[in-house]
Amino acid sequence: MSVLVFLDPAFPSGRVADASVPQLLATDLGATRGDGVFESMLAVDGHPRKLASHLSRMAGSASALGLEFPSADTWEPAIGTALAEFTRKYGDQQAVVKLLLTRGPEGADRPTAWVQASPVPASAAEQRQTGLDVLLLERGYDSTLAERAPWLLLGSKTLSYAVNMAAIRYAREHGADDVIFTSSDGLVLEGPTSTVVLAEVKDGVKTLLTPELESGILPGTTQSALFDAAAKSGWQLGYGPLRPERLRQADGVWLVSSIRLLAPVKSIDGNAIPVSPELTAELAALVETVL
Ligand code: PLP
Repeated sequence: MSVLVFLDPAFPSGRVADASVPQLLATDLGATRGDGVFESMLAVDGHPRKLASHLSRMAGSASALGLEFPSADTWEPAIGTALAEFTRKYGDQQAVVKLLLTRGPEGADRPTAWVQASPVPASAAEQRQTGLDVLLLERGYDSTLAERAPWLLLGSKTLSYAVNMAAIRYAREHGADDVIFTSSDGLVLEGPTSTVVLAEVKDGVKTLLTPELESGILPGTTQSALFDAAAKSGWQLGYGPLRPERLRQADGVWLVSSIRLLAPVKSIDGNAIPVSPELTAELAALVETVL
């Protein structure tokens, strides 16, 4: 159940392609080396949420890989075509819109770019409701490496997500749902597909915290929009460094991302942590205001 629309100069609104038959060359460097970048966003009522933030982050990821980034004027009509086609085929439901850009077929010197629209997996709503048991897993680098080693592309959303997926499989094989990565110097980083957010409430002052971007994490569009909305409704904001004890002592911890939105963390490494349905409801309502 997916719709594909390729960016193609011969088709100003994008070229619709059949997702049930092969569409990429087997030599595409996105497939053979994971050499490319992507974004995933939620579309509601036919409109992608936070489109400008996703395009801007993807442009940054493409720049880190030295990939030419098609302009917003090229992506936007193709996204519109994909969502119109998705609604025509599958009705009026929310969609996951993925934007993908690879270095293209070997030797061609021509990137491949396309939009994929597909239904939101049922697990997104389930995890919002039931919450998550997470494991802290080592990411294997220290929190200062991103600055020293730009070639590692830390903080870019590349197609090389095999490690992230392996971490989630590892968690599931060990009785958990998801992962929070830690650095070798013991700091909280991010989830494999999410940003970590925690709340502290002291003397009536509510503070939202998240790890600092300098530690090599992906700048989350959901976290950023949530923080803007929270600040407007009176929350204080804070940015790491955060140690795992801080998560255990918080009044609430959530994994946030564009599709799952905001899912409460119930336990860390098998130990229950405080869960606040009230704070979850308040923050979920703020995330809902983010368009
Ligand atoms: N961190 C990583 C590693 C991710 O892959 C994602 C999203 O997939 C996020 C954070 C959350 O980003 P966003 O809120 O923009 O979806």
